[in-house]
Amino acid sequence: MLETVAKGFKAARNKLKGRTEITADAVDDALRDIRVALLEADVAFDVVKRFVARVREKAVGEVVETKVKTEKGTLKVTPQDHFIKICHDELEALMGPVDTSLKTNSKRPTGVMMVGLQGSGKTTTTGKLASRFLKEGKKPLLVAADIYRPAAVEQLKVLGAQLGVPVYSEEGLKPPELCKKAQDVAFREKANVILYDTAGRLAIDEPLMEELEQIKAAVAPDNILLVCDAMIGQDAVKTASEFDRRLAIDGFILTKLDGDARGGAALSIKEITGKPIKFLGMGESLDRLEEFRPEGLASRILGFGDIVGLMKDFEQHVDEDQAKKDAEKILSGDFSLDDFVNQIRLVRKMGPLGELMEKFPLFGELPEGFQFDDKQLTRIVAIVDSMTRTERQRPDTLNDARIRRVAKGSGRDEKDVRDLLKQYNAMRAVMRQIGDAPGLLSRLPGVKQL
Ligand code: GDP
Repeated sequence: MLETVAKGFKAARNKLKGRTEITADAVDDALRDIRVALLEADVAFDVVKRFVARVREKAVGEVVETKVKTEKGTLKVTPQDHFIKICHDELEALMGPVDTSLKTNSKRPTGVMMVGLQGSGKTTTTGKLASRFLKEGKKPLLVAADIYRPAAVEQLKVLGAQLGVPVYSEEGLKPPELCKKAQDVAFREKANVILYDTAGRLAIDEPLMEELEQIKAAVAPDNILLVCDAMIGQDAVKTASEFDRRLAIDGFILTKLDGDARGGAALSIKEITGKPIKFLGMGESLDRLEEFRPEGLASRILGFGDIVGLMKDFEQHVDEDQAKKDAEKILSGDFSLDDFVNQIRLVRKMGPLGELMEKFPLFGELPEGFQFDDKQLTRIVAIVDSMTRTERQRPDTLNDARIRRVAKGSGRDEKDVRDLLKQYNAMRAVMRQIGDAPGLLSRLPGVKQL
């Protein structure tokens, strides 16, 4: 996701490498890469212009090198760090602040009206939200108000059956009436959340807008969420503005962020409409809905990976105490080859590998040829398994003779073993650096400052 933009920031960062001072020329040079990358990613032109101007204003004349006192000692901050920090803060400001909560209704079932163009992922996302409500212990009802496309009604029924959630549909009723009636159905079904899956069109048209306004008037939903396909870039932003003008939406759900190299909509939509992005659709299956966190996305765009997101994934997959201990250990740079392998194993359990690698900062920094596909992971595990317990705990004890033995034992070349050790050391160094970043640890869920 957002590779185009990430590449631009990486190029910009490299341009500032080794500099002792951020001059106006150096900033302009670096910002040129960023501007091109943002435009390529289909971020709206005005948004790019304002973003670049804000970064420039803050970056030029920035302190040459500062020292920050932390509990762990004095940290040195380079001009490059400063620049990246400024970009990070501005990216975060561009996409946030965010409020991913949905309004609830204390008197009657909470209404969530889903709107969006055809093909945006509205029906799928309705299912994803229902799944989320179920996990929160709520009882959702799905309403098939896209009566013009029999396939849409069918699709919602399938999703409902998959989730074990009731789906209300009825022939012969106009969508506003159908939605109104759904409130009685919800009462009967003892549902406390109603998700209205409304009709979409290929493009915005007047009859569609009128119908949506009528539904809004009929059911007074507590939330109106616009589902937008992130792949359509600037057009998504235009559509969003129009939907917002007519319906006063509460927020967005951007879908297909998993498959999009550009994803410029994520960067423009908030700035242009003033309405928050609430969730991101990250895949076709029902569990691929993430709460939107601008700081996470900003970090990912900058190529630092999304440590906070990764830690959340960790927490879902491993016992919480262990995850906290792991996080502390990893971020202190104090971990053995066993930990290294455990982390990789964990990562393998957590769904699409590529997506996770993106979140895990150091994998992005690894040299080519070390992409951690399943085959390579198996190889790493084999090499580590051929080491003694002491060697795994204290890899610095691996001298030439031991490396030769491990290579033989695992059926690999000595070079493979040495490469692995290099990666492990690089991972430790990067992790230590990240762990040292002021304020980062305190932002990790449940992880205390070391
Ligand atoms: P609707 O016409 O707006 O109701 O759209 P659908 O829910 O039918 O989705 C259209 C297509 O997009 C389907 O093939 C979905 O599986 C797919 N889709 C929806 N959300 C996502 C997402 O977050 N990522 C990916 N990769 N595909 C998605």
